[in-house]
Amino acid sequence: MSNFIELAAPGVKALKPYQPGKPIDELQREYGIQQVVKLASNENPLGPSPLAVEAMQKHLTECARYPDGNGFHLKNALAEHLNVATSQITLGNGSNDVLELIVRAFATANDEIIFSQYAFAVYPLAAQAINAKAVEVPAKNWGHDLDAMLDAVSSATKVIFIANPNNPTGTWLDGQSLQGFLENVPHNVIVVVDEAYFEYASDRRMQIRDYPNALNWLARFPNLVVTRTFSKAYGLAGLRVGYAVSHVDVADLLNRVRQPFNVNHLALVAATAALADKDYLDKAVQLNCNGLQQLQSGFDGMGLRHIPSAGNFVSVEVGENAAQVYDLLLSEGVIVRPVANYKMPQHLRVSVGLVEENERFLQALSKVMLSVKN
Ligand SMILES: *Cc1c(COP(=O)(O)O)cnc(C)c1O
Repeated sequence: MSNFIELAAPGVKALKPYQPGKPIDELQREYGIQQVVKLASNENPLGPSPLAVEAMQKHLTECARYPDGNGFHLKNALAEHLNVATSQITLGNGSNDVLELIVRAFATANDEIIFSQYAFAVYPLAAQAINAKAVEVPAKNWGHDLDAMLDAVSSATKVIFIANPNNPTGTWLDGQSLQGFLENVPHNVIVVVDEAYFEYASDRRMQIRDYPNALNWLARFPNLVVTRTFSKAYGLAGLRVGYAVSHVDVADLLNRVRQPFNVNHLALVAATAALADKDYLDKAVQLNCNGLQQLQSGFDGMGLRHIPSAGNFVSVEVGENAAQVYDLLLSEGVIVRPVANYKMPQHLRVSVGLVEENERFLQALSKVMLSVKN
């Protein structure tokens, strides 16, 4: 009998798998609760854009064919929407796929990959999977400490990940800070600015002052890669579509390492349709602004501190018993996200839902907080 764990590649052996939010039907099975509210994965509570659903229905019968491996229509729509060239775009099976492609294209074992404490869990996973050195830089006020990240750069550094805004903290960097960082990073280090929540953070209704659009720096900093996704504001998390925009040569490399058909046919047509649905996006952002307000007032009313967020989620400090609070919320039919795996053992992250979902969560939290204190 072989010891398969011993056989594994060195990076893989030490990997701990990504912990996703608990699925709704799992809670239904385990707790016998029918009415479940899931605010655990930063999904869009509106459901997908009707235009995306219609597009998928129209193209369903084409699924015996391979998808367009070059994503011609989606890339064209994105190029026009973002004012970039199609040759700068790399499509991915979620932006998660693109993040891994970047690591695989530029780093090998023993190279260094830098990211911040409390930053998105996929960055260390992508680094460890290839046995690269994952360099975690201590955060400042829950957010990226760009000076410390600059200091961490060495001759072995290949890739730096910056999430703006960051998940799970919701913290963001202003344009001046990020530009200063890009000016000072050696130009042979790839800097990934992960803008998974761009459509929220950049909307003026969110009132995030000086939130930068990193695409504007691409011409000036060829080592910059900007990633975005259809999973959050565009409401297509289940389809898995994201993309990177970069220098054409970087895009060329990323396209060499990706799977030939990494984005499926329905995802391609749905994303193209969703991109054109301005009403949907507008509604989603408005709902999010109101929902963040609603959650924040709720927390204030309960005397709970939260980290100000530029995303569609917020991390709230519930204290030492956060794991218990999480469990008790489950028994109330409410799924949020524990963030102890991010070394934030006193916080829970909650995604913004519909008004009534936020209300149900706040009610449940208020009940649960009383019972854990006693
Ligand atoms: C959700 C998220 C992503 C990616 O999600 P995909 O569904 O893979 O596109 C990337 N970065 C951050 C910071 C996220 O929160």
